[in-house]
Amino acid sequence: MLGISAAYLVDIEKDRRLPTEELLQKTADLLDIPVATFDEFSPDVPKAVKDWLDKNPLLGKVMSLLRKGSPDETLAKFEKAIVRPRQRKFTIAIYHSELQAIGSESASWDTETGGDLFGIWGDVPVVYFASRAGPNAKREHAHFRLDVDYLIKLSGQLEKDWGLRYFGDWHSHHRLGLSTPSAGDQRRIVSVGAKNTFDEMAEFIITFASGQDAEKTIVINPYAYLDLPSQTLTDVALIVLEGTSPVRSALIAASSMPEQQLTAFSSFPIERISFSVEPVGRVSGTVGSSMFQISERLLHKAMSALTTVSSGELELYRESFGFVVVAPVNDKQNIAFAIDKNWPHSLLQVEWIDRQSGSTEEISADLAGLTLLTTERLKEIYSTAKGSMIGQKNDTP
Ligand SMILES: [Zn+2]
Repeated sequence: MLGISAAYLVDIEKDRRLPTEELLQKTADLLDIPVATFDEFSPDVPKAVKDWLDKNPLLGKVMSLLRKGSPDETLAKFEKAIVRPRQRKFTIAIYHSELQAIGSESASWDTETGGDLFGIWGDVPVVYFASRAGPNAKREHAHFRLDVDYLIKLSGQLEKDWGLRYFGDWHSHHRLGLSTPSAGDQRRIVSVGAKNTFDEMAEFIITFASGQDAEKTIVINPYAYLDLPSQTLTDVALIVLEGTSPVRSALIAASSMPEQQLTAFSSFPIERISFSVEPVGRVSGTVGSSMFQISERLLHKAMSALTTVSSGELELYRESFGFVVVAPVNDKQNIAFAIDKNWPHSLLQVEWIDRQSGSTEEISADLAGLTLLTTERLKEIYSTAKGSMIGQKNDTP
């Protein structure tokens, strides 16, 4: 009546195969009962699945939990418990120069070494400075300890001068071959984060890949902690900003921090540094919202420097092309500096402004290479122009 063989029936009885939907329907029609009646008798799970569950007792438990109470509720709880944290794609931008600085410092020690990362943590955090460790750092074969006193001093200075905050450290794992932060590394970051009330920090682990030649390839393994005090690590994709970090440029121009060997990075070939695929191509390092902050700091610093030689308080005017900084010479005469809005803010023109007569006159000076970074030379231009005017006055009978 059902059109099946005896062997087929035996198979069904012994759970070796399941009746097809069609067969169940036929049977229901014959018995004149709703097909749903069979739901009660049909095995919950096919035999193959049953066998598999028997080999995986944990899954068996889950199945039995699902049979009890409200399956929906149990399933929802279960999903919550087992769902893997979504792999977040987090990006951090870093200047070409700072990658080189890390490479140069890592390659010059046979022991573990490291330093620190400083920047502006916006939508895309930007590393403006990768430092080398202070003079009292301990570099050992399987251990590296920062010079904490030096780090505190450096952090304070970079924050005050440039508005940078401490992101975390970078250090090499020389012999461990471990490309992720160790448990101890993670504890340190969590504790620094707690002290400074940071929710987010970064840590770069440096490993070495031996190339064909004796020269080691530096591998940068970047991580972020996005949910401090949780130690959860997030993989980071690096965005490389072209050129030298503006903060490093400014520090070099001011001849500050000799212990940082600020220019040593430039001799390290970028080809010897490797890291995971970049999500975007190389990006210009002189644009972006955090650059505005750096430019404003630089302008403020240059104005402070000029104030030390100026006869009075400086005035600042913002124009479409950039800035005009006016430094008084006396109550009528002023020297005006016209400055380009784009980094590194080249000096475009220098003029006399006579407020009494309303006249302006260009001051001839060699402006080549003059920018907001070259504050000593801006001061010289002011002093020379002021001196020549006083000279002219003295010559006038
Ligand atoms: Zn480590």
